[in-house]
Amino acid sequence: MLLLYYLLLQKRMKLLSRILLLSLFFPLYSYSEVDLEALYLNLHKNPELSFQEKETSEKLSKILEDMGFEVTTQVGGYGVIAVLENGPGKTLMIRADMDGLPLEEKTGAKYSSVNKSTNQAGAEVFTMHACGHDVHMTSLIGTAQKLISNRDGWSGTLVLNLQPAEERGSGARAMIKDGIFKRFPRPDFNLALHVSADLPAGKVAYVPGWAMANVDSMDILIKGIGGHGAYPHKTIDPIVLASQLVNNLQTIRSREISPLDAAVVTVGSIHGGTKHNIIPSEVRLQLTLRSYTDEVRNKTISSIKRISRGLAEASGLPEDLYPKITLKDEYTPALYNHPELTNRIKLIAEQALGPENVIKSTPVMGGEDFGMYGRVEPKIPSVLFWLGAVNKKVYDRSKRDDIDLPSLHSPFFLPDYMPAIETGVKATTAMALDILSNPE
Ligand SMILES: [Zn+2]
Ligand SMILES: [Zn+2]
Repeated sequence: MLLLYYLLLQKRMKLLSRILLLSLFFPLYSYSEVDLEALYLNLHKNPELSFQEKETSEKLSKILEDMGFEVTTQVGGYGVIAVLENGPGKTLMIRADMDGLPLEEKTGAKYSSVNKSTNQAGAEVFTMHACGHDVHMTSLIGTAQKLISNRDGWSGTLVLNLQPAEERGSGARAMIKDGIFKRFPRPDFNLALHVSADLPAGKVAYVPGWAMANVDSMDILIKGIGGHGAYPHKTIDPIVLASQLVNNLQTIRSREISPLDAAVVTVGSIHGGTKHNIIPSEVRLQLTLRSYTDEVRNKTISSIKRISRGLAEASGLPEDLYPKITLKDEYTPALYNHPELTNRIKLIAEQALGPENVIKSTPVMGGEDFGMYGRVEPKIPSVLFWLGAVNKKVYDRSKRDDIDLPSLHSPFFLPDYMPAIETGVKATTAMALDILSNPE
C-alpha cells in the first residue's frame, strides 16, 4: 500500500515538474492554438442568417475569451466586442461580419452547408456563407492569435468587432446605436477586409477614396382609378403611369446628374393587376438606388419624388392619390477608404506579401455597412481592403478561356479558403502591428 502511494506521488511530481517546465517556455497567458482550418470548416457548414448569429457569436466569443480578451456579447444583436488593452498607444478596431445568406450551396464541396433556418417571412430556407464572411471571421481569429502571442511587439488597444447582419445593411448601425464607440475604447483607426470573387487567393487589393456605394431601397406605390379594361376613359390607369415612370426615372441618371458622377436607379420589381380585362387601382415598384456622394444620393431621391408627382398630376389623379414613396431604413452609406490610411496599409501589405501581390483596384457599386464606422463624428479613418479568394488555377483558366467566375452571393462561390485566410492573417497582422507600434 505504501509503495503504491509512493509511486503515485512520484507520478504527480513528474506531472508537476512538466507543467513548471512548460510554463517556462510559454508565458502564463498562452492558450491552445486555434486550428484555423477546422474553425473555417465549422463556420462554413453552419451559416446563420442576419440577426440570428447566435451560435456563431457564442463560438467566437469563447475562443476570444480563452485567448485573454475582455469580451462583451449582445452588442447590437449578436455582435461581439473583444478588447485587449496592451499599454499606451493607438486604438485599432478590426471588424469581421458574421452573417450568411438564404441560399442553397451548389459548390459541390465536401464541406458544403446543408443548414436550414427560418427567414424573416417565416419560411424555411437553406443558408450559405456565399459572401465569404466565414473567411473574414477565421482571418480575424488568426490575426488575434498572432497579435496576442506577440504582445511584447506592440503597444496600444486592440478592439475586435464581430458584427451581425451586414447583409441587411443594419448590423453596423445597430452596434453604433448600442454604443460601441462609447462603451468601449474609441478607435483611432478602423480596419476590415472582404473577400473578392475576382482576385486570386494570395493577393489583396485596395481602393483609395470612394470604394463602395450608398445603397438605398425604395418602394413606390402607384395609385390609379381602376375599372373595366374595355372602358379605359373611365379610369386612370396605374399600369400606364408606372410604365411612364419606369422610363422617366432613367433620365435622372442620364440628364440630371453629372456624367462624371456615378449613380444607378434600378427598378427591380413591378407588380400590378390580376386579369386581362381589369384596370387595377394600384401598381407596386421596388427600386435599388446607388451613388457615392451624399449630394448625388439626395438629388436622386428628390428627383424620383418630383417625377412621380409630376406624372401623377399629368395623368389627372387627385392629389390624395399621388404615388406613395417609402425609403427603407436599411440604408447602407457609401464606403470611403481614408486615402492616407489606405496608402499606409498598401505599403505594409507590399512588405508583408510582396508588391506583386498588392493590387490597386477600382470602385464598385456594391454596398458594405463597414463605412458607417468611419462616418461617426468626429470621423474615424477607416479602410476596407479586398482579399483574393479565387483558386489560382480556376482564376488562370477563367482568364485564358474568358469564363465568368461565380460572383459573391452566388451559390457556386467557393473560396480557396486556406491561402485566402493565411493571406488575410498575414496582411492584417502586419497592418495592425504597424498601427499599434507607431505613436502617429
Ligand atoms: Zn454580401
Ligand atoms: Zn459580405
